[in-house]
Amino acid sequence: MCGIVGYTGPREAGPILIAGLQRLEYRGYDSAGIALVDDQGDLFVEKKAGKLVNLQTAIADRTPHAAIGLAHTRWATHGRPNDLNAHPHQDCTGEITVIHNGIIENFRELRDELAAGGHTLTSETDTEALAHLIEDAYQGDLAEAVRVALRRVEGAYALAVMHRGEGDRLIGARQDVPLVVGLADGESFLASDVAAILAHTDKVIFLEEGDVADLRPWGVTITGIDGEPREREVTVIDWTLEAAEKGGYEHFMLKEIHEQPLALAQSIAGRVTRDDGIVVEELADMAETLRRVTRIELIACGSASYAALVGASALEAWTGLPARVTVGSEFRYSPPPLDADTLVIAVTQSGETADTIAPTRLARERGCPIIAVTNTVGSAITREADAVLFLQAGPEIAVAASKTFVTQVTTLVVLAAAVAKIRGSLDPDAELDLGVALRALPAAASRALVGADARAAELARRYVNSRGFMFVGRGAGYPVALEGALKLKEVSYVHAEGYAAGELKHGPISLLDAECPLVAVATRSAVYDKLISNVMEGRARDARIIAVATEGDTQIEAYADDVCWVPDTHEVLSPVLAIIPLQLFAYHVAIARDTDVDQPRNLAKSVTVE
Ligand code: GLU
Repeated sequence: MCGIVGYTGPREAGPILIAGLQRLEYRGYDSAGIALVDDQGDLFVEKKAGKLVNLQTAIADRTPHAAIGLAHTRWATHGRPNDLNAHPHQDCTGEITVIHNGIIENFRELRDELAAGGHTLTSETDTEALAHLIEDAYQGDLAEAVRVALRRVEGAYALAVMHRGEGDRLIGARQDVPLVVGLADGESFLASDVAAILAHTDKVIFLEEGDVADLRPWGVTITGIDGEPREREVTVIDWTLEAAEKGGYEHFMLKEIHEQPLALAQSIAGRVTRDDGIVVEELADMAETLRRVTRIELIACGSASYAALVGASALEAWTGLPARVTVGSEFRYSPPPLDADTLVIAVTQSGETADTIAPTRLARERGCPIIAVTNTVGSAITREADAVLFLQAGPEIAVAASKTFVTQVTTLVVLAAAVAKIRGSLDPDAELDLGVALRALPAAASRALVGADARAAELARRYVNSRGFMFVGRGAGYPVALEGALKLKEVSYVHAEGYAAGELKHGPISLLDAECPLVAVATRSAVYDKLISNVMEGRARDARIIAVATEGDTQIEAYADDVCWVPDTHEVLSPVLAIIPLQLFAYHVAIARDTDVDQPRNLAKSVTVE
């Protein structure tokens, strides 16, 4: 779930590994650990619950000189988040050290069998079983021992393993959890993602399912767990480290909210032609399939599922096909009828969301054509898909999605138009309208941000002590209400509900009073008047009204206590602008409540477990 860094080479491993873990902190974690084999061949291990600084303090004066090591941040799944269960874990002899992200599903059976065979397991984790399995398999060749051990393992893992006696060798392995190899001059790295090692190299290999990587300072060889060699391409990454740093903002979330105009521009680049037509080259090979499909199923979780709601209504409007969104965890175990005429669109920022990948795989097995929408090149979802549309939003570090939400919305809208165009159902005028609106969208987002930060801070001060918040919207405003409420929950820990405005009177209106404001997404739309009726219902219950409205709306101030203005745009793209003040509102309520904005409690950026 969280972070792995490994190093073998001529330099001091300790500081490289700790700096790498810092780059991975954004993933959220509950404990951290490090193992180093020092110049005398002795093993040094330290691990601490809590933030990375606890580990840093513990090793500050006693980090040994070492040229090889591995380090880990854990997000506990099996066993409490304490020092003992933190990784690395070792075998009985203390020679073998393992770190792991993911879940070993048959851990119970393996642990029982190992204990019966005379092994002493000291932690509560699933991971520790791996160290002892490798111990049993070890006959002088660590890579072979890892391969043999992994044949017994069911589950998801990214692993890094070292043996005290094989002084410059690191073994990595991946199944369903991301792991990359970094290659530089005379040194090699293992990491959960590129950010951890970008300071040292831009040459990486994205490991694929079942890969076992055997790293030495001078290079890497890759096999399957059967020992058969596997060829993997070296990718040169062009991300700068600055792109992944805070760039002067106090938090990544704030930085990423302000990066949205740029992210939108990058995301739209190449998809709107000079004469405002829509093109998605990635779909070229699927044209025939797209003409044939009769239904569309979108699979996503969290914010991505709200973006998918926008995509689904655009798909229905422009293709005339039924399109619906199901959250991955429900789709997987209650799948709808699936066949070769059902187009599946999987939406996941990280591309590693287990709850999205598993149902997508199921759909693929049933013969469905698959399109993936993700921000992460080389991620697992890309290997499940016939076509991939990348968000091109740049790395997002804050756990709460912002720029990836708005780029998911635009990418899905573009995708909807492109599918309709291929099927011949997109009206040329509608295409032109959309092209013009998309082209204007980055500038509109910049305008929505002008003064918005100060305004949101003021609103946060005024409303921070509310008991809870009710977010409502209709049509394109409904997903915005859901996402706005989710943002507030995620980062400020304040209770918020997102509802279709018409549903208020069917239950949740009982929550409204002077202590529970109504946040109404009241941007220009065909259902504006209906939305205003719902606002009136809230006012009649003494709820204070915060409205997000379109510039030029002359009525809204008569109904709302506070208004956040956003520029006008195409109705289908209105969520991109309407969410901006709500993201900032969530951010400032979080600041007022002094929460950990970028890494809210209990949350992880990339949710790679079911
Ligand atoms: N399942 C392992 C544990 O609970 C690894 C968790 C992780 O991915 O960090 O220790």
